[in-house]
Amino acid sequence: MQCPACGYPEMEERTENETLSYGGQSVTIQNLRGEFCPSCGEGVWDTESNRRLDEAQTALIRSVRSEMSANIKRIRKLLKLTQAKLAENFGLGPLALSRYERGKTPPPILLVKVLQLLEKHPNLFEELRQMDHRAMPTRAPTRADVAVYRNRATV
Ligand SMILES: [Zn+2]
Repeated sequence: MQCPACGYPEMEERTENETLSYGGQSVTIQNLRGEFCPSCGEGVWDTESNRRLDEAQTALIRSVRSEMSANIKRIRKLLKLTQAKLAENFGLGPLALSRYERGKTPPPILLVKVLQLLEKHPNLFEELRQMDHRAMPTRAPTRADVAVYRNRATV
């Protein structure tokens, strides 16, 4: 087989192990077969090896998502909060946590990071809870918003 990348005339058959890494997890797939270019290093897996790599990739993504969902649920329980209560305090919709914990929607990375911080410092949740985001504009304020705040201030 000719190398599809550099055109070298004769690729070499080899058996290799390949390690896939994603989201802090890794998996090694043993004895994959393919042809490799001695000139540029390009490799082409055979059909069976490609199928095994695809399956391993899918399984790894599922595993990372499932771990992320489990972590969200675990930290929420550590904070002794319902899904609704946590969502309310983060300015999320009422069903957001349910979707993240069931792995239906990937959680925003910011939420994951804040929850990891709260896992280390659970006492900070009270401080976070007291920040009333309902008073914070969630988009660029318009003149109407400013008028509302001005009126509130003069009441
Ligand atoms: Zn090549």
